[in-house]
Amino acid sequence: MHEAILYKKLENNKVQCTACKQYCFIAPNNTGTCGIRQNKDGKLYLLVYGKAVSANADPIEKKPLYHFMPSTEIFSIGTVGCNFSCGFCQNWDTSQITKDLKNKLLKEKKIANIDAEIGKFGYELLPEKIVEICIEKNIPSIAYTYNEPSIFLEYAYDTAKLANKKGIKNVFVTNGYESEEALNLLKPYLNAMNIDLKSFNDDFYKKICKARLQPVLDTIKLAHKLGIWIEITTLVIPGKNDSDEELKKITDFISTVDKNIPWHVTAFHPDYKMTDVPSTTYETLNKAFTIGKKSGLKYLYVGNILDEEHSNTSCPNCNTLLIKRSGYSVNIENFENGTCKKCNEKIPGVWK
Ligand code: SF4
Repeated sequence: MHEAILYKKLENNKVQCTACKQYCFIAPNNTGTCGIRQNKDGKLYLLVYGKAVSANADPIEKKPLYHFMPSTEIFSIGTVGCNFSCGFCQNWDTSQITKDLKNKLLKEKKIANIDAEIGKFGYELLPEKIVEICIEKNIPSIAYTYNEPSIFLEYAYDTAKLANKKGIKNVFVTNGYESEEALNLLKPYLNAMNIDLKSFNDDFYKKICKARLQPVLDTIKLAHKLGIWIEITTLVIPGKNDSDEELKKITDFISTVDKNIPWHVTAFHPDYKMTDVPSTTYETLNKAFTIGKKSGLKYLYVGNILDEEHSNTSCPNCNTLLIKRSGYSVNIENFENGTCKKCNEKIPGVWK
């Protein structure tokens, strides 16, 4: 157990967690929505500090980040738990496991024991070790991913600070529910974020994710204002968020924040509580791509489906092909130091 840094102490030994925008009020012995932050005698503890359930060296393109150190590896870690409850989650077996556990322990009136139960998940991987692995294997960046990183803030924060000292970059792959407090704290060490914009419909967020839309929009605006490199991902789910009107609202919003923000429009595949919904078709993804172009977005990418035509980066000025992608294989052509070699157009991103 590790005492949290982002929380407020309240009367009667209650606390309020301020790591994410759920801003949970937590009674003694209980946890917040994510199930991994527990109030013990009026202090809030992170139960998964230094305990990863997944840790892998991934291609950066898998996050997905296409304008951030292309063709490099990124050491990726995640824990159990999540602050959302998305019915389409692809990592539900680790992200949602803490909610089931919490409900069971509440029913049995054994919630005080949740720290011991959560402690059984994963294996020890301390911040020092993560940084050591990156140095040993020459991996230039770390992703806090697989589950929502704002909920394991203290673990990510300590790792990011150490990594930053060694010249290693840090990336959040996130649902956009970081509190302002968390984002301001992380900012000096956080180089990039891939933020999900899952829908432009508050009802979608409420019913399917048990969250709200506006806090996510606010995070996107704040991260951009803070100068963190951001890319946005929308998983397009047939019948749920794929209407022309909704896709236009998403791309118009991104466009008003910054037309240079890359938008990844990715294919849904049946999973978790949505096994009755069909996979997204090429036609729908192409439609989203066209709508994004009309909104003025300069960098659009199709993902989770093999579509080489819509995976490449071309110069928006002279249309020269700069980065060719096929799956996770990347070929950098006509492109140097973030500049198109043919017409000298600067391409926004973090290139080294
Ligand atoms: S991280 Fe979010 S969901 Fe978890 S306890 Fe804190 S406010 Fe609640």
